[in-house]
Amino acid sequence: MSRQTQAIIHADAIVNNFKTLQALAPQSQSMAVIKADAYGHGAVNVARLLRDLSPRFAVAIMEEAMALRDAGVTVPLVVLEGPHQMRECALAHANQCILVVHHRQQLEWLMATPPARRPHIWLKVDSGMHRLGFAVEEVPDLLHEFAALMTGETVLATHLACADDTANPFTRQQLHAFAQLTRQTDLPVSIANSPATLVWPQSHANWNRLGVVVFGSAPEAVSDTVTLAAAMTLRSTVMAVRTVEAGEWVGYGQGWQAARRSRIATVGIGYADGYPRHCPNGTPVAVNGRLAPLAGRVSMDMITVDVTELPSVTPGDRVELWGEQVSIDTVAHHAGTIAYELMTRVSARVPRIVR
Ligand code: PLP
Repeated sequence: MSRQTQAIIHADAIVNNFKTLQALAPQSQSMAVIKADAYGHGAVNVARLLRDLSPRFAVAIMEEAMALRDAGVTVPLVVLEGPHQMRECALAHANQCILVVHHRQQLEWLMATPPARRPHIWLKVDSGMHRLGFAVEEVPDLLHEFAALMTGETVLATHLACADDTANPFTRQQLHAFAQLTRQTDLPVSIANSPATLVWPQSHANWNRLGVVVFGSAPEAVSDTVTLAAAMTLRSTVMAVRTVEAGEWVGYGQGWQAARRSRIATVGIGYADGYPRHCPNGTPVAVNGRLAPLAGRVSMDMITVDVTELPSVTPGDRVELWGEQVSIDTVAHHAGTIAYELMTRVSARVPRIVR
């Protein structure tokens, strides 16, 4: 029997989640963020699904942009990290990519690129997150100094650090700082990511950048504001079932001890597939549609599950690690991380199957 570990990618969920978020911000244009292989869902798959809905796609780096171009995706691409080398400026122009520029050296590379080969740019502004971007105060001078690079497509963009925390006043501070700048120009503006689109309508601007919501998850603090459908079902099958006696141990490091005579199912997925090694005993998985707890440490290629309470479990039975029956947010919570990390870590050996 071949290993049946797969990530099923739900086409309808991706399309409907995007439309749901688009409808929440009808005055804005929404673009899907499909960096990191569309958060693990397959960037080419997702680009094909959303090509008539998302007038731009955002990726992190030029390599991701070129992979989409090589696959025949023609939608204009916004490259969030901008150029990492001067040669990427002309490459971006040749491939209909817009570069998000965040430091002076990138502006200088663009100036040194022949005008006919310069791409459109966005200017990234640091409104308080202090990760990337020009200080609010320096932007008016930069717009003047590098006027040759500014076109009708130039957008002023910023990123919010705490948009998923409605009680945190920092988002208002960032919006206020950014408004000091944007009210001085008539350039288009981009602020909102997924949580901001959900709960900060003040941040809806010309372009909203939608990532994780497209894939059916929302940060915990804002997740009750919307109904989304899981875009990925990570699934596998039972490889073996055995009985262990009360007091016996299961797995590496004697990670789980049977409190009673128990049935243990070994399932063909492990941390090398992207199932998090940090998931503790008790993390739910669904075996034949019924919840059962993880029992023992996650191995590289396998996990062990206590199926004592389930009717009969035999090799070949279906197991869902996350998807409709077990939410990815629940698994992330058990693993002490966020759904973003789980999605992006499903490894290359897990085939993505679009349905
Ligand atoms: N915009 C930028 C600059 C980002 O880095 C990201 C993702 O990290 C996004 C938008 C999308 O964020 P989210 O997945 O929360 O929508």
